[in-house]
Amino acid sequence: MQCTVCGVETESKYCKDCEMIMEEIIQKVGEKRWNAIDDCSYIYPMIVRATKGELTVNDIINAMEVED
Ligand SMILES: [Zn+2]
Repeated sequence: MQCTVCGVETESKYCKDCEMIMEEIIQKVGEKRWNAIDDCSYIYPMIVRATKGELTVNDIINAMEVED
């Protein structure tokens, strides 16, 4: 399988790096709000940047709030 977020070869839907970032986001915004997002694919590129240290989880959450 490939990671849904970054496309790297992985055994599950997300690779460890992306999963870690996503879990952090979900923890901060809350599961309810996370589940209310129809299509979260627009934040995938930001997650990739966060795994590289170019963005923080807070940057992503701020960007999500703009989308609301
Ligand atoms: Zn990934």
